[in-house]
Amino acid sequence: MIDVKAIRKDFPIYDREPKLTYLDSAASSLKVKSVIDHVDHYYQALGVNVHRGAYDLAYEATRLYEEARTTVSKFINAQENEIVFTRGTTTSLNMIANAYRDLLKKDDEIIVTELEHHSSILPWMVIAQKTGAVLKYVPLTKEGRITVKEFEKVLTDKTKVVAITYVSNVMGYVTPIKEIIDLAHKKSAVVILDAAQAVPHMAVDVKALDVDYLAFSGHKMFGPSGVGVLFGKNELLNMLQPVEYGGEMADEVFKDHATFKDAPLRFEAGTPVISGAIGLAAAIRYIENIGYDDIHDHTIALKEYTLKKLKELKGITIYNETSDISTITFNVDDIHPHDIATMLDQYQVSVRAGHHCAQLVSRFLGVNSTLRVSFHIYNDFNDCDVLISSLKAAQDFFLAF
Ligand code: PMP
Repeated sequence: MIDVKAIRKDFPIYDREPKLTYLDSAASSLKVKSVIDHVDHYYQALGVNVHRGAYDLAYEATRLYEEARTTVSKFINAQENEIVFTRGTTTSLNMIANAYRDLLKKDDEIIVTELEHHSSILPWMVIAQKTGAVLKYVPLTKEGRITVKEFEKVLTDKTKVVAITYVSNVMGYVTPIKEIIDLAHKKSAVVILDAAQAVPHMAVDVKALDVDYLAFSGHKMFGPSGVGVLFGKNELLNMLQPVEYGGEMADEVFKDHATFKDAPLRFEAGTPVISGAIGLAAAIRYIENIGYDDIHDHTIALKEYTLKKLKELKGITIYNETSDISTITFNVDDIHPHDIATMLDQYQVSVRAGHHCAQLVSRFLGVNSTLRVSFHIYNDFNDCDVLISSLKAAQDFFLAF
């Protein structure tokens, strides 16, 4: 069971903003003290580069950085040489798309879905335009879900790449990914999984999934911004051309040619995100300490309670009543979502309004923009009540005439 009072003591923002009702964790979670302390320790006590220096401080920084890689690898059941530290999910997904540019040719097929965040569509759209490959979309069900049946409709012998979300950032649906990966592999296609919304809410096991590549971000899981992870099967990463060239990724450099290190350093050109990686490892330890079962039970209870209360209000359209995680996407009839979000801010309620970087989902829903609330472990039932009462106040204010 989650004790929210105790949890809030771990999140220093509540000392500054005791009345904060933060309901935008799907955009970025609040930051936990142990993460801040670990990042601070790196800058206070070390602050030097990794992998390069032959002095104590550099050895210590390298030890912490590589220990962070070990922590990440165990967290998702990967090998250490399969974990590349990046700037975030967006960078990880772009890196893989760029690395596949030379491996794709005209008429090869890339499968994406209408549920993707832009960072899982746009890199492939551009690669398709450059290579002549064809971008295909998995049709969604009426409810807006990706199903195995719909996936099979677009999978062909020409499919080379499947780039797909594990959990939708708008609908909160979990994709039936294991079956999709197995089907894709039967066609010898690789699967790139956008796990940005999955890792903050559920255990992810890359071996059990047999996924080829996977990406997530630190800032959505209580960790620092500016750090993310690219997982890739080691044999695949070593087969790919590097995407960036520079320090620490080359083996031997001559005037006219060079050889490159194996993964992960092959993909970590230049000074890496040292403090970010160290902070991310602290975030992972924090999550492991709490456990995904409690995270799931707590956030789902908040979501169910809020759904019930929202349905009791008049003039609310809910788009994802069957969301699998803690995300609720809705609109208040006759009031623009941005007006609602601005009004809620008067009550220190933070929600997201807009297309959530997933315009194809908005188009699917037939709206320009929606409101999204998303819960995490520091939220309690009072937060849900404050949301509902401030929504009522917004309706009273905007619909009074
Ligand atoms: N994919 C999904 C499903 C997301 O929710 C996000 C963040 N909104 C991203 C990718 C991009 O993550 P980042 O901005 O951390 O690179």
